[in-house]
Amino acid sequence: MTRMLIIGPPGSGKGTQAARISDRLGIVAISTGDIFRANVKEMTPLGVEAKSYMDAGDYVQDSVTNKMVRDRLKEADVEDGFLLDGYPRTTAQVDELDDILASIDQQLDAVLQLTADDEELVKRLLGRAAQDGRTDDTEEVVRHRLDLYHEKTEEVVSKYADRGIVAKVDGIGGIDEVTDRVMTALKDVQ
Ligand code: AMP
Repeated sequence: MTRMLIIGPPGSGKGTQAARISDRLGIVAISTGDIFRANVKEMTPLGVEAKSYMDAGDYVQDSVTNKMVRDRLKEADVEDGFLLDGYPRTTAQVDELDDILASIDQQLDAVLQLTADDEELVKRLLGRAAQDGRTDDTEEVVRHRLDLYHEKTEEVVSKYADRGIVAKVDGIGGIDEVTDRVMTALKDVQ
């Protein structure tokens, strides 16, 4: 059984790889971004609260995000392992996740970090926004999301690196090629 995270900058393909890893390892993939987007679509109180942060490319407050993850990790389907996609993104969220897992006598096995060059990511994200008609995804918002990743989320990776559980994988390349790299890298950390 595997309990793991996938971390990477916006546009690095982490959602795509998360679906493939979850399939291959038979574990549920939990994406905080997907949960937020579903709530925004349904206009739930959580969605209403999260929307303005998401539109600006900012992180939703830790208190809101932490509660959502704590509730999600209580569900029965995580008993066989899980892949968290997009959480934790701040060091306070790392502490929260440690606490959640300790309370159910569990710990993380692996953290997969996808890497990619910023200019390549900007190109990808703006291309995707144009294709999907997401006019709110301007270059300014996209660059802000990348800056936030460097500023807050790289610290998260270094916390886990100190524990020796990080596998770093180059996220540039074909989808199958990256999945092969991921599966090979995971063998080394588990
Ligand atoms: P993602 O699809 O993972 O890029 O997430 C989309 C958006 O959801 C982010 O830009 C944030 O606004 C919000 N979000 C997702 N996960 C988190 C998190 N762990 N902490 C705070 N905000 C988050």
